[in-house]
Amino acid sequence: MNIVILGAGESGTGAAILAKQLGYQVFVSEKGTINQKYRNELEAKKIPFEENKHTLERIFAADEVIKSPGIPDQIKLIQDLLKAGIPVISEIEFAAKQTNATVIGITGSNGKTTTTNLTYHLLHTAGFSVGIGGNVGFSFAKLIAENPTDFYVLELSSFQLDGIKVFHPNIAILLNITPDHLDRYDNKMENYIRSKFRIIENQNAADLFIYNAEDENMRSYLEQQKLPQKCQPVGGTYYQNPWLIIDEKNRFDMSQCSLKGPHNRFNAYCAIQAALAVGASPEAIQKGLDTFENSPHRLEVVATQEGIEYINDSKATNVDAVFYALASMEKPVVWIVGGTDKGNDYTPLDQLVREKVKAIICLGLDNRKLLAVYSSLDIPIIETQSAAEAVHRAREKAETGDAVLLSPACASFDLFRNYIDRGDQFKKAVLEIKELENF
Ligand code: ADP
Repeated sequence: MNIVILGAGESGTGAAILAKQLGYQVFVSEKGTINQKYRNELEAKKIPFEENKHTLERIFAADEVIKSPGIPDQIKLIQDLLKAGIPVISEIEFAAKQTNATVIGITGSNGKTTTTNLTYHLLHTAGFSVGIGGNVGFSFAKLIAENPTDFYVLELSSFQLDGIKVFHPNIAILLNITPDHLDRYDNKMENYIRSKFRIIENQNAADLFIYNAEDENMRSYLEQQKLPQKCQPVGGTYYQNPWLIIDEKNRFDMSQCSLKGPHNRFNAYCAIQAALAVGASPEAIQKGLDTFENSPHRLEVVATQEGIEYINDSKATNVDAVFYALASMEKPVVWIVGGTDKGNDYTPLDQLVREKVKAIICLGLDNRKLLAVYSSLDIPIIETQSAAEAVHRAREKAETGDAVLLSPACASFDLFRNYIDRGDQFKKAVLEIKELENF
């Protein structure tokens, strides 16, 4: 079989390595330049590739094409391949066919990485043979090729789900559906919702679906469906400080868990349900909750300087994530917000901003929208254009007992390389306050 892989990022390279290992003829075609790391991997495995071009004769000679999630279905090349009768599948679809392991797939607009990390950690702590990947870390295909395990916890983006045909996670978790990346879906919310629900499209009676029972977008979609799989809706009051209550037998103490806020309790509830479903013991799950450390840039407490707590939530690139960040705050907040606006509607934040925010620091190249939305509030609103400046102005406005929260609601590309760069610059500026103090 002759396989052509379009795109040589993490998933394309992973698919190529797996396909080669399976004995297929493989060719990788990348329209842009291939990152050195992936070029080295391809060369090490003697996998032929091209970059900065797509040679059509080679691509159309394929029996099957594996497409990276970054490539939209609508482009001419993909449409032409389909017209020519050549199957185009995603790396997830391809990889899933090569393993009998139990797959836990996690998607949603917000909370994927947190829930994926936590589910993995719970299973790992419980002694399972488990791998983590997908949209975080290694691609699914690379995990199967290079580090096969009995269980995989996969973060799945809607782009990855777009290219599946028969793939079905044994356990699917759908966290929430709020507007994001709508440009890839003809700006139609229903297309985006449908794409997220592809995670359960092929599930059967033996599978489990864990989902947010309080999400409006999900509810209206689910009303029209008859689902064959076992369903576990998550909603209502399942938290009584400090207990996360699953049922009469299973309650978990969250007081030692580093995850804070109602959204993270929801994420934890979903992760625990998945861990229980595959047979992890409640004791091991409690131990996992107590020892979990989340990835940086997600409500990450950076430091307390001069009695002010600095929190880095740079990954909050949409309004819904900020909603939960503000809802989690138990102190008056100096809020650092802004960047590349994705057509944000800030109204859902109105009440929280009025209740909790004492000053707004705009951090963006163009802050006009934020100024227009928040100038009428009776609180200071200040424009800045670097992380260091934002931290200094926030420090001036904050007092002992306050929190300074970077939770931007926007993408970072106007002033930073990405959300990691934005969060790192924020953290650096916060940690430098100590030096300023001692100066
Ligand atoms: P994703 O991988 O889906 O982007 P992350 O776990 O990286 O999600 O979190 C992204 C942002 O969303 C962070 O600011 C985080 O605090 C917030 N967040 C996490 N879980 C949820 C949730 N269940 N609902 C809303 N926001 C969330």
